[in-house]
Amino acid sequence: MVPSASLLADDPNLLFVPAGMVPFKPYFLGQETPPWPRATSIQKCVRTPDIEDVGKTTRHGTFFEMCGNFSFGDYFKEGAVELAWDLLTTSVDDGGFGLDESRLYPSVLVGDEEAIGHWMKATGLPRERIVQLGNKENYWSMGVPGPGGPCSEILYDRGPEWGPDFDVTTLGPDMPFELEDRLLEIWNLVFMQDELSAVRSKEDFDVAGSLPKKNIDTGMGLDRVAFLLQGKNNMYEIDVMYPVIEKAEQLTGRRYGADRDDDVRFRVVADHVRSSMMLIGDGVTPGNDGRGYVLRRLLRRAVRSMRLLGCEDRVLPELMPVSRDRMGETYDNLVSDWPRISQVAFAEEDAFRKTLQAGTQIFDVAASEVKQTGGSTLSGERAFALHDTYGFPIDLTLEMAAEQGLQVDEQGFRGLMAEQRERAKADARAKKGAHGDTGVYRGVFDEHGPTEWLAYETLTTESRPLALLSGGASVPRLAEGEVGELVLDRTPFYAESGGQAADAGTIVFDGGRLEVLDVQRPIKGLVVHQVRVLEGELEAGREVHARVDPEWRTGARQAHSGTHVVHAALREVLGPTALQSGSYNRPGYLRLDFGWTQALTPEQVRDVETVSQQALRADLAVAWDYMTLEQAKEWGAIALFGETYDNTKVRVVEIGGPWSRELCGGTHVDHSSQIGTVVVTGETSVGSGNRRIEALTGVEGFGYLARERDVVAQLTGLLKTQPDDLVSRVQGLTERLRNAEKELEKARLAQLLGASADLAAGATQVGPVRLVAHRADGAGGGDVRNLAMDVRGRLPQGEPGVVVIIGQADGKVSVVAATNDEARARGLSAGELVRAVGPLLGGKGGGKDDVAQGGGTDASRIDEALELVARRVAASAQA
Ligand code: ATP
Ligand code: MG
Repeated sequence: MVPSASLLADDPNLLFVPAGMVPFKPYFLGQETPPWPRATSIQKCVRTPDIEDVGKTTRHGTFFEMCGNFSFGDYFKEGAVELAWDLLTTSVDDGGFGLDESRLYPSVLVGDEEAIGHWMKATGLPRERIVQLGNKENYWSMGVPGPGGPCSEILYDRGPEWGPDFDVTTLGPDMPFELEDRLLEIWNLVFMQDELSAVRSKEDFDVAGSLPKKNIDTGMGLDRVAFLLQGKNNMYEIDVMYPVIEKAEQLTGRRYGADRDDDVRFRVVADHVRSSMMLIGDGVTPGNDGRGYVLRRLLRRAVRSMRLLGCEDRVLPELMPVSRDRMGETYDNLVSDWPRISQVAFAEEDAFRKTLQAGTQIFDVAASEVKQTGGSTLSGERAFALHDTYGFPIDLTLEMAAEQGLQVDEQGFRGLMAEQRERAKADARAKKGAHGDTGVYRGVFDEHGPTEWLAYETLTTESRPLALLSGGASVPRLAEGEVGELVLDRTPFYAESGGQAADAGTIVFDGGRLEVLDVQRPIKGLVVHQVRVLEGELEAGREVHARVDPEWRTGARQAHSGTHVVHAALREVLGPTALQSGSYNRPGYLRLDFGWTQALTPEQVRDVETVSQQALRADLAVAWDYMTLEQAKEWGAIALFGETYDNTKVRVVEIGGPWSRELCGGTHVDHSSQIGTVVVTGETSVGSGNRRIEALTGVEGFGYLARERDVVAQLTGLLKTQPDDLVSRVQGLTERLRNAEKELEKARLAQLLGASADLAAGATQVGPVRLVAHRADGAGGGDVRNLAMDVRGRLPQGEPGVVVIIGQADGKVSVVAATNDEARARGLSAGELVRAVGPLLGGKGGGKDDVAQGGGTDASRIDEALELVARRVAASAQA
């Protein structure tokens, strides 16, 4: 019995584990020797492609548990058939499921006589009760060359309520769609017997021969069997899920079973709340791509479905604990890790609520614009912008549009979405780079086996190149100046993993030298060096000397041990819920992401640094050992998410005994004092529910402090003071500066208004109108306006008066015009005057009849503009 692996698959092609066989893949592929001939498991699974089916069919969850039995060259078809039939039909009292034999229909691949024979023998059923189905249902492969084979799905007839009657003798080779909920697939037995040389599609592949060792892989949906045994209609009503539906009924006031659409929503809520909780439990945090996006989508769909059911309050704090109480009986991490899990989930709901709020405003503006222009359709661009910028789901946009009697250009929206997906895919391909396709590495591995890996033991070794690769293909040599990949029979180089950067160093050989640029492990067991040939020409097979840069490695060890120290310090300061969610370290630098929802205070940051420094001063011993995962857990070692650990032995690194125990494959110092120093340089947010702390170790830490000391020295020199007085000196200086600026401002205003009396007194008489048309160089917009208003107030009462001031400052020209009642009575408008001069000033402006304002960027024609004003006033005075 093998415990379930994490939902996060250790496989570049999988986001999540979708089936029970995934953890056993290396055994089926012959990459590793299985420690046992047979095994069983109950594996946590997540299938994102099934998300649209949730709640609509009776049998698809995004999360579910798959029970499986596996044989690695041990029992084959006969054994698998017997075991399955035995478990399904033995009575409950005798430890089986006690399913009614007359309702069970085994199926086989068309023409698999061997399987038909075994089924007839095991069940005593007549030949025609064994349904023969085609490749689509009953041939299994991984979609790539490798193992494959026929399957035997076991179907359960749920009776006429669930689909039309059928005649078993004419069933197959395709399973009619309308029978899928009636003839429920509960178990799939895979008989791995073929070696495939090409797979073009599910139904089009080439069988090259038989596998030397035949294997069994089976998967039974625990949730599906549970709903049959519990006499429920579907998997969302089983004991571990239904309480969430009941809670949702309470919160929404609606009843499950009353309305078809609502029922789907209830089921989506129950499913998504559970799936997202399980994902967070295994270390996923909400994000905008990959795993994080799946989680975000699940959480938001759950919240959204509750809204559609009429509940707009925060719902996850009510619903998720219900799911935890049921699932926690099996998965105790849900209970022990609840503070972190709930924090992540609830923070995402809060963020989504804000999104909804902001998006709703944007939507309302967009909708009213459409209506104002007499339209009835919201454009695809708008819907896309709502989705892309505000995370507004399209179904929400559709629904809100419908409420306002509008339609949405869905086709346009989907087009833009498809474009975006293409961009994202191209992006992902570019990022994966040379390691996207593992086929070539698989070839090297198959030929030469695993790399002898000596990173823990030595920094230098003699070795031999087994394969040279360039542009994803094997090449006979690498010439001077070329960059290529190199696989050695043994290597001291650490390949990037567990957050630790790859080692740097050189590889020398007679007549040549390579620089190691990067080291990766594209497939388990195979270390690949990316190298540049500095000198000479390298050929496969010749003797080389691999040498890790010892300085680099010292720095790497300091940084990785430093990461563990900071992690332990964080947990000491913030509490045990501050768990690492990701990390990266290279010589001199480390960063650690951890689950936490608020910014740390400066005191907390200082405390983390102090606790770290104390751990260095205590010179704690650093030790590591291999043990089973079980033992490691008992020891209280922290298993980090996203890492998969070997089924049998894990490596635990401890610093100061129990103070810091983590599962880790990295390279470490021997004593904490060798880390040199830990200087925290920053604490920032990285997405919802996650913070990042950054620090420098070793000489880089000292270098950072030295640079700060330099800055202080320069400042004390400049200010002629002592370091301790620096802060109060700078505070004093900024205070004085602020006061001086205020004084200056006052003086300027006084001067400006002083000029105002003179300007009013010197107004020119244009007919009956008193006009002040003045150029105020150095005055910005605000000043110009103040001056104009002040001058207007000083013009004689009872006579028409017009003031136009044009100022210029910082390359900007500002014009303000003001008129009094009498001037306006004669038809003089401030707005018109500003509009008239705007073009001369290289800009525009306008406003009301009494005060108007404008501006531009061309100061060369200010005088001309003032003359134009005088002419306008003169013209109106004559009229
Ligand atoms: P279906 O055709 O019903 O989607 P499948 O062919 O995808 O099933 P398999 O890949 O053979 O199923 O998985 C093995 C077993 O796991 C199935 O027989 C079923 O009992 C269970 N199973 C598969 N997908 C789900 C799911 N989304 N939710 C619950 N159980 C599932
Ligand atoms: Mg399926």
